[in-house]
Amino acid sequence: MDIDNIRGIVIRAVDYGETSKILTVFSYERGIISVMARGAKNPKSKKLNLISIFTEVNFDLRKSKKFYYLNDGEIIEYNSHIRSNIKKIYLIQMFFDIIERTTFKNEEIKVVYELLIKTMKYFGLEENYLKLTNMFLIKYISMLGYKPVLNACSKCGKRQFRSVYFSLENGGIVCEDCKKINNIALTVDEYKYICNILVEVYENTAIIDDEIDERKIFKLLIDFIIYNTDISIPSSYKSFTKLEGIE
Ligand SMILES: [Zn+2]
Repeated sequence: MDIDNIRGIVIRAVDYGETSKILTVFSYERGIISVMARGAKNPKSKKLNLISIFTEVNFDLRKSKKFYYLNDGEIIEYNSHIRSNIKKIYLIQMFFDIIERTTFKNEEIKVVYELLIKTMKYFGLEENYLKLTNMFLIKYISMLGYKPVLNACSKCGKRQFRSVYFSLENGGIVCEDCKKINNIALTVDEYKYICNILVEVYENTAIIDDEIDERKIFKLLIDFIIYNTDISIPSSYKSFTKLEGIE
């Protein structure tokens, strides 16, 4: 029997037949994979706590030609702090949705996995989860190869600005001479915030000034991701913005 030990998080579980579930797992070793969990619909099944969403598990999987089968597993982290807050649930679900839509199945993306796990951990440590969300989004889109240009005008290269704008189509900031009507004006503090969330690690979130409109940056980053990856807007994003009153 071919047993694989894989670290991962269930990002979706769909009923299959009378007794089983098909899981979509984001794993450290193999990226996104499909796993059959036989008997997992049985309320007495030992597998039930292994397949709850947001829990990180060391899975024992048996691999057949087409599929992975869930054999057993060991819980690494319950992440129960996420389940107690509906806004956190929507945001983490949104991260899952964005990752799933912007990567290939079975594509190994360890650095993204580590970023996600760390973000989930800090959702339990830091009150301001919109800041963490913005940090995740800008780091993730940078990992995909769309790091925003922030050190100079992304059109003319100028480094001295009277005012700063963000241009989705140019992939970064633009100066007052290059800005177009649809570009987003940034205050100096908003500009600094964007630079900081890109370069700073989660251990340093406290030094990032959050006296700005973080919802505006959140929307900007989501627009930036959608512009570059062409994904559809996840329903988790819509649920969150509705709840948060973001237009
Ligand atoms: Zn310019």
